[in-house]
Amino acid sequence: MGMERFIPVYQPYLDHREREYVLAALERQEISGTQGYFIRKFEEEFLKYIGCKYAITCSSGTTALHLAMAALGIGESDEVLVQTFTNMVTFFAVLYQGAKPIPIDIEPDTWNIDPDLIEHKINKNTKAIVIVHIYGHPVDMEPILEIARRYGLWVIEDCAEAHGALYKGKKVGALGDVGCFSFYANKIITTGEGGMVTTNNEEIARKMGNLKNLGFGDKSKFMHQNIGFNYKLSNIQAAIGCAQLQKIEEIIDRKRRIAHYYTKNLKDVSGLQLPVEKPYARNVYWMYHVVLHEEFGLPREVVMRKLKGRGIETREAFIPYNMQDIFIQRGWVKGDECPIANYVGKNGFYIPSSPLVKEEQLEYIVDTIKKTRRGEV
Ligand SMILES: *Cc1c(COP(=O)(O)O)cnc(C)c1O
Repeated sequence: MGMERFIPVYQPYLDHREREYVLAALERQEISGTQGYFIRKFEEEFLKYIGCKYAITCSSGTTALHLAMAALGIGESDEVLVQTFTNMVTFFAVLYQGAKPIPIDIEPDTWNIDPDLIEHKINKNTKAIVIVHIYGHPVDMEPILEIARRYGLWVIEDCAEAHGALYKGKKVGALGDVGCFSFYANKIITTGEGGMVTTNNEEIARKMGNLKNLGFGDKSKFMHQNIGFNYKLSNIQAAIGCAQLQKIEEIIDRKRRIAHYYTKNLKDVSGLQLPVEKPYARNVYWMYHVVLHEEFGLPREVVMRKLKGRGIETREAFIPYNMQDIFIQRGWVKGDECPIANYVGKNGFYIPSSPLVKEEQLEYIVDTIKKTRRGEV
């Protein structure tokens, strides 16, 4: 055991190419986010990869979501339906605009928004639906797009965990009105900190591009068009992004192989629910997330502690919006309204999922989980 046996939940896959491109950006003296060879290249290559018309870099997944909300004109008195089981910034983006998020419960197998629970939450104030392709598994988009069309709602995809995931053969990020990506250090590809918004709508693209860069004027730069933000990605970060994008399919391939190994070797462990891959999906398995049921015989905290004692890092599932103390205290939510998300939030955790994890480490992790189940550790 000891440090040599420590297996982290995540490590980014960086090699010589990131270094080369960052040095090239420095040599060109292009270091800010206003202009630079790598910013344009990263945006052009990303939109080609996703298969959409516009891709605009920004400073994080959080600012990508906020740009989407602001450009779509989401504001006070508007309601936005949001998948409750997610990173809380999906909700914060709605709150930054002064709008009211309405939490929607999830499906028990994909852990994504349950399309059947959306329609009865729609009223005259509802403006948009935010879905999250959680842990890399695409949401079942067709029923959601159908409801959105019928009620005239925007659809925003939070793709922060799902770069390269496919829904019926199409990349996520161009299925709704705006796609929001994160390039934080543990995402499928990374720029350290960073983000991207994607869309097929020219007007929305222009608005997001303007908002992220202080709302400068077209004709007269300092006659501002909007109350803008500084949400720019720097050219140095974009250089890392260009290098990462060249190996995205290799990373996804590694992650799918890791997931297949786990699934093959853990599927007979009773009381342990594993991720699925629906017929409509290519799951990119951002994190290999599992849920403990009663038959496992041990609560999550004990299992996580035992794994940690054996050098295996794990992390708890997200706590749903409706369970967050700061929102319960404000009286915005009651806590118990999304029972499936609450169950998963209490009993889920994820295990090491880095593209750098080695075969013998996977064997050790599987073996340790089985021993934990049998009470041998
Ligand atoms: C990571 C993540 C974000 C936020 O991205 P940052 O780049 O860290 O701001 C948003 N939504 C989801 C679902 C995420 O996992």
